[in-house]
Amino acid sequence: MAIIRFKALEESFSHRPFEVQLPSAKPSDYFGINVFDRPKMQKYLSKQAYRSVVDAIDKGTKIDRIIGNQVADGMRAWALEHGATHYTHWFHPLTDGTAEKHDAFLERMDNTYIETFDGNQLIQAEPDASSFPSGGIRNTFEARGYTAWDPSSPAFIVEKTLVIPTVFISYTGEALDYKTPLLKSLGVLDRAATDVCKYFDPNVTKVNSNIGWEQEYFLIDESLYNARPDLVLTDRTLMGHASAKDQQLEDHYFSSIPMRVAWFMYDFEVEAYKLGIPVKTRHNEVAPNQFECAPIFEEANLAIDHNQLIMDVMKKVAQRHHFKVLFHEKPFKGINGSGKHNNWSMATNTGVNLFQPGKDYHSNLQFLTFLVNTVAAVYKHSELLLAGIASAGNEHRLGANEAPPAIISVFLGKDLNRLLDDIEKNDYEKMAGTDKKKEMMLEFAKIPSILLDNTDRNRTSPFAFTGNRFEFRAVGSAANCGSAMILLNTAIADQLRQFKKEVDDEVAKGVELDDALVRNIRKYIIQSKAVRFEGNGYSQEWVDEAARRGLKNITNAPAALKAYLSKQSEHLLISNKIFSEKELEARYEVLVEKYVKKIQIESRVLGDLAINHIVPTAIRYQTTLIENVRGLKELYDHEDYLATAGDMLETIKVISKHVTNIKTKVHDMIEARKVANHLESSADKADAYSLQVKPYFEDIRDDIDRLELIIDDEIWTLPKYRELLFIR
Ligand code: ADP
Ligand code: MG
Repeated sequence: MAIIRFKALEESFSHRPFEVQLPSAKPSDYFGINVFDRPKMQKYLSKQAYRSVVDAIDKGTKIDRIIGNQVADGMRAWALEHGATHYTHWFHPLTDGTAEKHDAFLERMDNTYIETFDGNQLIQAEPDASSFPSGGIRNTFEARGYTAWDPSSPAFIVEKTLVIPTVFISYTGEALDYKTPLLKSLGVLDRAATDVCKYFDPNVTKVNSNIGWEQEYFLIDESLYNARPDLVLTDRTLMGHASAKDQQLEDHYFSSIPMRVAWFMYDFEVEAYKLGIPVKTRHNEVAPNQFECAPIFEEANLAIDHNQLIMDVMKKVAQRHHFKVLFHEKPFKGINGSGKHNNWSMATNTGVNLFQPGKDYHSNLQFLTFLVNTVAAVYKHSELLLAGIASAGNEHRLGANEAPPAIISVFLGKDLNRLLDDIEKNDYEKMAGTDKKKEMMLEFAKIPSILLDNTDRNRTSPFAFTGNRFEFRAVGSAANCGSAMILLNTAIADQLRQFKKEVDDEVAKGVELDDALVRNIRKYIIQSKAVRFEGNGYSQEWVDEAARRGLKNITNAPAALKAYLSKQSEHLLISNKIFSEKELEARYEVLVEKYVKKIQIESRVLGDLAINHIVPTAIRYQTTLIENVRGLKELYDHEDYLATAGDMLETIKVISKHVTNIKTKVHDMIEARKVANHLESSADKADAYSLQVKPYFEDIRDDIDRLELIIDDEIWTLPKYRELLFIR
């Protein structure tokens, strides 16, 4: 009987680097060729239609039906010239991926067939949407959902299909996706930040958020992956003893990229460039077979579309190289998991990065205004921000001695931190007209020079300032960045508005603007001090210290998700019109249900594999030992028999013990599942899955992993960690 593991191994040995034909030596020759971007719009649209789309992108204005028709005509002409036969609306439902439903351009007209595409088809579609998560907003009999064109993210062609980025909403108008609330939050932040910018520069009329994501992932040989039902069904390994060598030597990090992997990278980067995704860096990450890619940052909505798109592209391109890409946050026990750092900043339409220190007292007052309000918002809404990154996958990273700790804190670097401490110590109100105030102004003016040598980095902080941007490091590698950014944008917008109101009130009472600004900056420095932390976020000291500071340390996803429904979060999200009450409840419901389903699937897969892979293999090996012992008994007298068979008798017993443990625990786990399944509310169900079902995973796995060390390698059916992690 052939064991699938060996068949897979043999196949994997035959997988050689697959050399890709690059379309041209220079990526700039083909960058964006599959995107209906501004130059193409200029070519294919009337002046009027072009202006309308550009205004929609830059100013958020609406596009009317007539113009919509013109844009559709231009898009169709371009798409047909590029060989497209179909079009699709493309959206980000509340699943892990993206969704698309293709329609041919082909239509019957007067007994002939032609290619058509009009404004209605561009602007709105009505996919039968009954199977997308809605959190109870829709009944299946009322399954209609609408997709509506998002002109701020350009259409593109993938595999002969014109793809139109859209939002996705229910028949009754509630958001069923990530993009709708994201766009709302970007609008809210734009308005709040622009108002504050006007203190410093009246010419500012718009503030954009920018994101540069860093995407971590694992590459696993396809044949080995296919031989691991847990990877196929859950994206992570539910069992597997540690490889003797894994990441101890840290020799994978930044090391020379293996050829087979390098060709995969060239290949998906070519596809990314054609789609206008400006990928920039690539490298080996810390864990074996773990890698990272990052683009040049872009406007947040576009950056997030691009991240969703590239994950899809990577999965497809990987097939040509006989790889599987794992975006799961923790595919392997005992080695680093994957994250998705969201580098985030705000920039004005006048070209100023609001997190970039300026050249003088005034520009740095602006810098400090945005910096301190960001810290204050993160402090105030830290629990909600944690909810934004909580999921079944990311739960493995939270508080697990690996980025990020479940305690949300902000790292600023020692110089900025010292400056904030200084501002705190010096009561500005009492300083007016004194030398101390002049000193302070000088100190503000010096900020850029201190930051120049601020090279300190803190890898253990979930939210770190890195010179001209913040890096939200807690986002999961499989997540839609929108989930986290919706909440961050809104929290900061809300804080900026409050700040502005307070400053305005003081100015109205006759306080000078600068004094009012510094006074309020100081107030928020003091208020949010507890969230600032410069030390090792993985240490037990920080856990203790954070508890003393009253910061929450929530390491389980269902508990973290509850923050969506706290009074404070509801107020924030509803008053800023990001979600209605119904939408917010539905969103929570979807997230909790998703958690339950994922743990349920993992539990079933683990139970199945334990019972029908591991136990039979263990018994098979045990039978061999028993036969051997019988043989020894025939061969030797009693004394010699005991001397030679003693350790085998012991092993037979140990195997029996593990087999019994596995059977009992799988049985108990199934019972725990039954109890959980009978619970009424999704919240209770999620808690039960997290606290009653999931703990069995480690326990069962422990017996399995011990058996893996005992049992003859030749009959072990599942590819081992050393194979999954080192074959490339
Ligand atoms: P590091 O590993 O040092 O953090 P990377 O080069 O891996 O840096 O990724 C940094 C990411 O941050 C890139 O996507 C980069 O474009 C982005 N980035 C740089 N400056 C900004 C900024 N002002 N706003 C947003 N993102 C930025
Ligand atoms: Mg980084």
